[in-house]
Amino acid sequence: MYIERVLEETSRRNPHEDYFLQSVKKFLDSVRPVIDAHPEYEANALLERLVEPERVFQFRVPWLGDDGKVHVNKGYRVQFNSAIGPYKGGLRFSSSVNLDVLKFLGFEQTFKNALTTLPIGGAKGGCDFDPHGKSDNEIMRFCQSYMTELYRYIGPSLDIPAGDIGVSEKEIAYLFGQYKRIKGVYENGVITGKGINYGGSLIRPEAAGYGVLYYAREVLNHQKDVIQGKTFVLSGYGNVTWGCIKKINELGGKVISISGHNGYVYDPDGICGDKVNYLLELRANKNRDVKMYADKYGCKFFEGRKPWELKGDIYIPCATQNEIDVSEAKMIVEGGCKYYFEGANMPATNEAIEYLQQNGVIVGPAKAANAGGVAVSALEMSQNSIRYSWTKEEVDNKLQEIMKKIHDESVEAAERYNLGYDLVKGANIAAFEKVAKTMISEGVI
Ligand code: GLU
Repeated sequence: MYIERVLEETSRRNPHEDYFLQSVKKFLDSVRPVIDAHPEYEANALLERLVEPERVFQFRVPWLGDDGKVHVNKGYRVQFNSAIGPYKGGLRFSSSVNLDVLKFLGFEQTFKNALTTLPIGGAKGGCDFDPHGKSDNEIMRFCQSYMTELYRYIGPSLDIPAGDIGVSEKEIAYLFGQYKRIKGVYENGVITGKGINYGGSLIRPEAAGYGVLYYAREVLNHQKDVIQGKTFVLSGYGNVTWGCIKKINELGGKVISISGHNGYVYDPDGICGDKVNYLLELRANKNRDVKMYADKYGCKFFEGRKPWELKGDIYIPCATQNEIDVSEAKMIVEGGCKYYFEGANMPATNEAIEYLQQNGVIVGPAKAANAGGVAVSALEMSQNSIRYSWTKEEVDNKLQEIMKKIHDESVEAAERYNLGYDLVKGANIAAFEKVAKTMISEGVI
C-alpha cells in the first residue's frame, strides 16, 4: 500500500514527467520486499524523500552563433541525492533534454552510483542544445555560457559533472577551462572525463563499454558460458558502443550492428580492426551519419529501422532511452537472444523488460551493466585528490573488480529475498539498501 500511495502521489505531483515516472515505478516495484521488511521506512517518509530531488537548478544559456545571431537554450542541473557522497553524474547536450529526462537520469544515477561501491551521490544535468552541426567556436561559446551559470552549484566536494550524450572530451575541456577562469583556482576534481594532460584518467573513455563487458563476463560465467564465439547485436555508435565493441573483439565475440537516428548498419563480417577506429571518426564528424560506415565498408544500411530484427546471442542497446518497446522485445526473443545488457540508461520500456525476462532472457539492467563509466569517473576523482595518476592496468583492474562486485552484490540481494537469478531486482535492492539505510541514519533531511 505504501508503494502504491507514493506512486500515486508522485504521478500527481510530477504531471507529464513520463520518463521519470517510468523509472520510479520500475524501481519501487523491485524493492517491494525490502519495504515490506522495514515498516520504519514509511514512518520516516523515506520513499517520499527518495523520489524528490534534493535540489533542481534551471537557467538561461544565451550564446552567440557564427552568424551573429543570439541563441537561447534551457540549462539544468538536478542534484538528486547526496546520502552517500557528493552529487555525481553527467551532462547531456541534446535537443531531447528537458526536466523529465534529467530527473529520470538523476534518479537512476543515484542507485547506479551506490552500486559502484564508491562514495558518490546522484545527479544529472544538461541542456537542450544540440552540438550536431555546430562549429567549434559555437560549441566553445555555448560551453562557456553554460558554465558561467553552472559554476555556482558545483565543486569537487559538492557536485561533480561529467559527460553523457553530446558531451565528450572536447566539451569537458571547454567547461573546465571556463570554471577555472571564473573561480581562479585549479580544481580539476570538479569535473570528470577530462583529457590526460589535465587530470583525466586512463581507461575513462573506454570505461562505460569495458564495464558492460566485464559485467557480462560475470553473468555468463555464472551461467557456465563464455563470451568467445558469441554474436552481438548493438545499437548506437557513440562512446558506449565503441568501448563495448573494442572489448567484445578482445574477448573473441563478433559485433554485427551499430545504429544512428535514421537507421542501422548490418556488418555480417563483424566490426573489428580499423573499422572500430572509424567509429571515432564518425562521432567527430558533424553529420554523425552511420550510413557513412556502410558506404565505406560496403555493407547494408537499413534506413528508418532498428537492429533488433537481427539474429544474435547477446543484445546491447547503447543509444538512448526507450528505444525498445514490447514489439521490439518480441523481435529480440525471436532473434535467439540469451542475454540482454543495457549500455544506455533505461533503453527499454518496463513492459519490454518484463517480456524479455518472462521469455527466458537474462537481463543486465543499466544501473549495473553501464556503471563502469561513472565508476572510473570516481577513480578519476580519487586520482585528482591525491594529485597522482594510476597506470592503465591499475585503473582497468579496479574497474574489473568493481563490475564483479556489482554482479555479486546483485545476486546476493536477490537470493536473500528468494527472487532467484533476477539481476534487475537484485541491482535495485542492493542499491536501495545502501541509500535507504544511510538516509535513515542521517536523519530527516
Ligand atoms: N553519463 C554517464 C552515466 O550515465 C557517466 C556519468 C559520470 O561519469 O559522472 O553514468
